[in-house]
Amino acid sequence: MILLTEEQEMIRQTVRKMAEEKLAPIAVRIDKTGEFSRDVVDLFEQYDLLRLKLPKEYGGLETDHTTYYLVIEEIARVCASSSMLVATQGSCLTSLLVSVDQAQAKRFFGRLGKGNVIMSWALTEPSAGSDVGSMRTRAVQDGDHYIINGSKCFITAGGIADMYTTFVRTGNGRGTKALTGFVVEKETPGFSVGKIEDKLGMRGSQTSELIFEDARVPKENLLGQEGGGWDILIESIKETRLGIAAQALGIAQGALDYATNYAKQRIQFNRPISEFQGIQFMLADMKIQVEASRALIYQGAAMLDRGIRDILPSAAMAKCLASDTAMKVTTDAVQILGGYGYMKDYPVERMMRDAKSTQITEGTNQIQRVIIAGSMLK
Ligand SMILES: Cc1cc2nc3c(=O)[nH]c(=O)nc-3n(C[C@H](O)[C@H](O)[C@H](O)COP(=O)(O)OP(=O)(O)OC[C@H]3O[C@@H](n4cnc5c(N)ncnc54)[C@H](O)[C@@H]3O)c2cc1C
Repeated sequence: MILLTEEQEMIRQTVRKMAEEKLAPIAVRIDKTGEFSRDVVDLFEQYDLLRLKLPKEYGGLETDHTTYYLVIEEIARVCASSSMLVATQGSCLTSLLVSVDQAQAKRFFGRLGKGNVIMSWALTEPSAGSDVGSMRTRAVQDGDHYIINGSKCFITAGGIADMYTTFVRTGNGRGTKALTGFVVEKETPGFSVGKIEDKLGMRGSQTSELIFEDARVPKENLLGQEGGGWDILIESIKETRLGIAAQALGIAQGALDYATNYAKQRIQFNRPISEFQGIQFMLADMKIQVEASRALIYQGAAMLDRGIRDILPSAAMAKCLASDTAMKVTTDAVQILGGYGYMKDYPVERMMRDAKSTQITEGTNQIQRVIIAGSMLK
């Protein structure tokens, strides 16, 4: 339970209605086929959900952080795969908002404002996951361009996106000091999409490899300065980790709602299974964990809304708790549905598979614990 303004509550109700009525059937279909669907983009365009963080002067909604996380939560409650699109779009916009100059704002935000433009965030490489500073993809300046060589993996919206916020190595610096951000546009010569992954969950969200073979990116697409990529990343993850936390919360809430209703309907031993204390205590524990996650996430959102940026450990705690909760609550939801929970005719097994991703993306939960412990012990 969090206190929302009238406008935030109205947006939440609108997105919930849209998700329940229009997204739910798509969620089942895209999980089954394992394919991204343009229907989701069209639906989100109708509701302006791909321009939540875009400044108003460029046709965006420029919502506060609380509203942004509420939208992700409500979408993930019904279709976690589709919430990846909104979360990734937000991650990219955050990186741009903290780094672009006026000319870039006009160019990139102007394009986003026209609609139907999807963004993707490319950081991970085959040999550089948690250890971001060890990435190998490199950009070297050549006149008015940078030439990028290397590859990225596990990239959400890879092959779907129009603009890729990409972090690579430049210069001779070591570790994170040599990271630099670029916007790589999909038509860039030398840039291509590699393997499309077949995944356990989030199956309606396309995840792919990206390949850079002498990819020529104009120097106007460099974000900030050479070597400034790590600062952009840190400023971004303060916000984006809460996005994945909100996604996890939505998955957990969806599973809890489904299991609660099911327990009231399912009759065994001549009574609804919700009358058994064994089930009641499971539901109560699920509720406690969901509400604790919600409190941490929206406390982080309220801090951001007040301009407080010193929230890395808070965001890490929210992400850890919410994603561990999503995994636990969805597993318990399957248990409450018994054999039916294990079958694909019911949504909770999909939610359980989707939940696993939230413990891995935006920094694994081990890395979140490294950050939390580091902030306690420094
Ligand atoms: C569905 C999905 C979508 C994704 N989308 C994107 C995307 O859009 N853009 C992007 O750039 N990346 C994306 N990723 C990649 C994701 O961010 C990485 O998978 C994640 O950061 C972990 O990196 P890794 O897979 O290389 O694991 P590794 O870093 O190799 O970790 C392996 C294991 O070792 C543990 N470990 C590593 N270091 C430590 C340590 N210091 N202490 C304790 N344990 C440690 C990890 O927690 C993990 O359990 C996505 C991944 C998934 C699954």
